[in-house]
Amino acid sequence: MIKEGLPLINEKESFIKALHTWYHNTHRKLPWRETPSLYKTVVSEFMLQQTQVDTVLPYFHNWLKIFPDFQALAHADEDAVVKQWEGLGYYRRAKNLHKLAKNLVFLETIPTDPLSWNKFPGVGPYTSAAITSIAFGFPSAVVDGNVIRILSRLCCIKTQFKDNNQAVKNLTELANAVLCSKDPNTHNQAVMELGATICTKANPKCTVCPVVNLCQGAKQGIAHTIPSFTPRKTENITIDRLWLEYDGMLLLHKISATSKRLANMYELPKREGILTHIGHQTLLFTKKRGISNQRITENIYLTSHLTQSDIDRILKEAVNLIWIKKEALDSITLSGPHKKWINLLLPLKTD
Ligand code: SF4
Repeated sequence: MIKEGLPLINEKESFIKALHTWYHNTHRKLPWRETPSLYKTVVSEFMLQQTQVDTVLPYFHNWLKIFPDFQALAHADEDAVVKQWEGLGYYRRAKNLHKLAKNLVFLETIPTDPLSWNKFPGVGPYTSAAITSIAFGFPSAVVDGNVIRILSRLCCIKTQFKDNNQAVKNLTELANAVLCSKDPNTHNQAVMELGATICTKANPKCTVCPVVNLCQGAKQGIAHTIPSFTPRKTENITIDRLWLEYDGMLLLHKISATSKRLANMYELPKREGILTHIGHQTLLFTKKRGISNQRITENIYLTSHLTQSDIDRILKEAVNLIWIKKEALDSITLSGPHKKWINLLLPLKTD
């Protein structure tokens, strides 16, 4: 236990009272909270991993229409499941949720404790604590970036953590020590809500925070500098890609079924190998995005003046490159940014 946590543990009752009262009065009305069920809790927790509520909401509504319960999800094809996740990112979550549904429908009794849930695909300590506390009232504290931030600030923990995992390890005991064991459902949801709406990463709204009186970080005026993590070196990556149309079709790369990321999904092909010298290539646009510590620059080149010999070479030599009819693009699953780029460019381009 981190010794800086002791003052908060001593004030546990006041902390719980202030937090729960605030949550009851102000929490956002979210579909998985309004009419809760185990299925809605599981789906929402999978969707909310690494993803903001606003992004999740339309996907959640659509998902419930198409897969209303574990049975419907378990009996769906994996391709159909991943298709409904298209654009939400981290597609392994969709596949794991599908596998989880297949497991659960065969169980006579659904387990109610985090250790049992940890054995299911895609369920780690955070998700198992969230699901079992919300659905079954199991007293286990969730610990993620939000909780790390809130506890570190409340207790003014200035330790520099190597990464999120180390912070989770260090703070799990404290999170459980201040958990309301009588109502872990409300408690965990309230902490998550506080982290999402008040104790935000930049500019915590301490003046309207329900637990400001207990917050050492706010008292010392340094809350915004906490928690501290060892800076990670930024990696700059540039990827050149091609927009290549022929006879009403678009050339796409199908990612290998054994790939760790985005398996079986489609993307614009990289400008490499035989594609480097096909036709006449001009830069269409450049997009920048960040994933973790990577800063990725993607240049999309328009390829024109294709010759029959170019087409023959692509057919003969290219691996995992597939011509897709433009009207069939909706039936395949594209990775998120590629779907956006294609939707943007498709109406503008002609053969
Ligand atoms: Fe976070 Fe400020 Fe509340 Fe402390 S007072 S928990 S820093 S929002």
